[in-house]
Amino acid sequence: MEFALTDVQSARDMYQVLQSMAQSHGVTLRAPPPEPTSCCGRGCNGCVWEGYYAAALYWRDEALLLLSDFKSP
Ligand code: SF4
Repeated sequence: MEFALTDVQSARDMYQVLQSMAQSHGVTLRAPPPEPTSCCGRGCNGCVWEGYYAAALYWRDEALLLLSDFKSP
């Protein structure tokens, strides 16, 4: 299962789909990473969104691993 993260909404959609899958299988996922609130608005070095998307991808991979036992054949 692929979840391309292209923007904030795609990340929110991914959390929702995987949390719903987890719930239906009785699996508990940790809370998704919080969205950044400290955008500097000036094109800074080390964008807060880069860290956020890295954390979102890690969350996705962890969730997919936990749900891998429940994939359909
Ligand atoms: S680089 Fe990132 S944190 Fe900085 S202004 Fe742009 S979006 Fe915001």
